[in-house]
Amino acid sequence: MTKSIFKCIECSKYTLNTEKCPSCGGQVVSPRPAKFSIEKEEKYSSYRRQLLKNNLKTS
Ligand SMILES: [Zn+2]
Repeated sequence: MTKSIFKCIECSKYTLNTEKCPSCGGQVVSPRPAKFSIEKEEKYSSYRRQLLKNNLKTS
C-alpha cells in the first residue's frame, strides 16, 4: 500500500486529501509529478521560443 502526499498549489501545505486542500480549498498536486511537468513545460516553452525565433528569421 502506497500513501501519496499532495501539496496545495495555493498555500503550499501538504495534505493527504487527493481532491482539494483542507485548509484553503485550493487545488492539490502530487509534488513530484508537478515538478516534473513544470520542467517539461519550461523545456517546451523554450522550444517554442526557439521555433518562433526561427520563423522570424526565415520570413
Ligand atoms: Zn491550501
